[in-house]
Amino acid sequence: MIGQAFRTCARWALDFALPPRCAGCGVIVADVHSFCPECWKQVEFLGDGGCVTCGMPLQATDSETCGACLARPPRIARTRAAVAYGELPRSLAIRLKYGRKVAIARTMARYMAPLVSRDGNAILVPVPLHRSRLWRRGFNQSALVARELSRRLSIATQPFALRRIKRTPPLKGMSPLQRRKTVAGAFRIADKSAIAGKTVILVDDVLTTGSTAEACARTLKRAGAARVELVSWARVVRPAQLMR
Ligand SMILES: [Zn+2]
Ligand SMILES: [Zn+2]
Repeated sequence: MIGQAFRTCARWALDFALPPRCAGCGVIVADVHSFCPECWKQVEFLGDGGCVTCGMPLQATDSETCGACLARPPRIARTRAAVAYGELPRSLAIRLKYGRKVAIARTMARYMAPLVSRDGNAILVPVPLHRSRLWRRGFNQSALVARELSRRLSIATQPFALRRIKRTPPLKGMSPLQRRKTVAGAFRIADKSAIAGKTVILVDDVLTTGSTAEACARTLKRAGAARVELVSWARVVRPAQLMR
């Protein structure tokens, strides 16, 4: 306990003493958990515009909802991502995934937080890893981000309410139908009372096809979640690869 407390203090002192560094390249910057001007230019921030449901850019139209969401309303009522997937956002995601870098989770949370809807009934739920992967890696990168979002927004996080019970291969290269089949039944609710009647905000690091998040949403809805939303650090914005 004392050792832990000492380490926490030491880390705090270190954070306090060291100048903030760019999350992209490591040069010293003025503002904590941000990017230098050079890296800033390489990041495409997506903002809160686009389709009210999926967040994708809208074609010239009066509608607030895109054609795809009108034709087939997604289970996830609102999807937002901080940045478009690209080299620099990818490098942050990889460093978080394999390095347990809390500073990176904080940087991501800083840019994701404004996109989280203010709902008194909301809880944050990270997209879970299968336990075999969790054991190997030791942590879930999305849970780190959810924890930082929770701190920033004072929204409770439920990192164990949703479990991944099936190991799934990478979905890259699969057809939408194959992807849906692969992730079907991959998730289970561990704690129904934590979910029922809530607005569940799923937290993910990188959103590619959306199939995994949709499978999470299906499980959450069955367990009585009132509404499911998703906030992610980065998202692939090539339209052909998105959602359904
Ligand atoms: Zn930089
Ligand atoms: Zn849409």
